[in-house]
Amino acid sequence: MGKRWGYCLISVALSSCTALDNVKPAETKVKNVIMIIGDGMGPQQVGLLLSYARQAPHSVIANRNTALDRMMEDGRLGISLPYTADTLVTDSAASATQLATGKFAGAEMLGLDKNGNPQENVIEKARRLGKSTGLVSDTRITHATPAAFAAHQTHRSLENSIPEDLLAADADVLLSGGLSYWIPEQASDKNSVLHQQLVQLTGNSLEIKSSRKDARNLLNLAQQKGYTLAFNKAQLQQTTGKTLGLFAESGMANGIVETQNRDNARHIQPTLKEMSVQALKILDRNERGFFLMIESGQIDWAAHRNDTGLLLHEMLRFNDTLNAVLDWAANRQDTLIIVTADHETGGFGFSYSGADIPKPHSLPGAAFADGTLFQPNFNFGSPEVLDKIYAQKLSYHDIFNQFDALPKDLQTPLKLAELVNRYTEFKITEAQAVKILATETNPFYRPGHISLGEKTVPKMEVNGAFFVYQKENRENLLAQAVVTS
Ligand code: MG
Repeated sequence: MGKRWGYCLISVALSSCTALDNVKPAETKVKNVIMIIGDGMGPQQVGLLLSYARQAPHSVIANRNTALDRMMEDGRLGISLPYTADTLVTDSAASATQLATGKFAGAEMLGLDKNGNPQENVIEKARRLGKSTGLVSDTRITHATPAAFAAHQTHRSLENSIPEDLLAADADVLLSGGLSYWIPEQASDKNSVLHQQLVQLTGNSLEIKSSRKDARNLLNLAQQKGYTLAFNKAQLQQTTGKTLGLFAESGMANGIVETQNRDNARHIQPTLKEMSVQALKILDRNERGFFLMIESGQIDWAAHRNDTGLLLHEMLRFNDTLNAVLDWAANRQDTLIIVTADHETGGFGFSYSGADIPKPHSLPGAAFADGTLFQPNFNFGSPEVLDKIYAQKLSYHDIFNQFDALPKDLQTPLKLAELVNRYTEFKITEAQAVKILATETNPFYRPGHISLGEKTVPKMEVNGAFFVYQKENRENLLAQAVVTS
């Protein structure tokens, strides 16, 4: 489902500034600003996290208290509207441009005003003030949200041009995925010397594959500009100064994988929390303070695919990260933490249903003492559903990756149903899998288009025009099957 209004929740927490009557109030001048963006994290996604924390019978959240609860207790709450100039629906690039520059941008622009004029961003402003700066994301560093804080480009898809902008902005800390946009085309050739050198440099921690169409090696340029390079958790944790960390060929691990990794002490790729804590350690060395943007960016990716299990794990990743940042800032008087979304994605929500309406039953309360039965008209859902959502073991995307890797003659509806039913608690039938795998001639075909360029696409029963990322549409169809099952 497409991105909706740039209508999102913002909660602002000032560092605690409680003062006892007989104690001189502490210095409350803010020198550090940490902005945490949940991409696609509208009120609905926040609601999923809070419902899970409060109501899931086996919630993994300690004391059922989320990081947002902590902020709501100590901070301030408001509404942020970082919408796009002149259009109704907001994308991440325009929204992050607004957050980074204060100027409304055109759809999918980076760091420009609506007429296309480059605008000074908060990284550039902070550097002018002598502060350190950093960008951290669990997507890739050239992706729209981090890019909007450093780049000035006409379109977010120009990811091969964005590394140079990132280096020109000269942020002290850049931590995310996206190595493929930094290394020359030739690096993809496994027999090349360059490929072997990169395998060594990266400690064989990630896939070496280039997305570039030229011979430019931006890693060299980064080193010339004084960056230490890091490609895995161990390398990251040794850094003390200016750092470029690229921990995945493209996007970093998703929230379900990160949950599984987190419990394995030997995990190679740092988590969003680990990247954030290391960034704070490095940036805090500057006595004049810092600006740090942290993006929990795959909330949006999960919401695009209507993958609720993954969405919950993304919200838990956001929660872990925010808790770590709040712990870091506890008892400090010099740090402003801003948490916001850029827009909402996917229109997630729980709804009551006409299926499986619970049987009437008696209640001990006084109002039911005359024998009246408690009998709601509909099925309002059991909190146990939240545990089933958490129990998902593989993202929809990875389920389809497994399916697509099978020999063609094994790619049957029955096999898809088996895979879905192996990794999720919301079972589907073979008949439902038939519908998920059905295709049609692309009604919105545009030759050469970044996502509408396939002649044959999954068959959407309704509102196909709104499902613009057509390669992912089987995942949306799976989500629809689950909802109606
Ligand atoms: Mg983003």
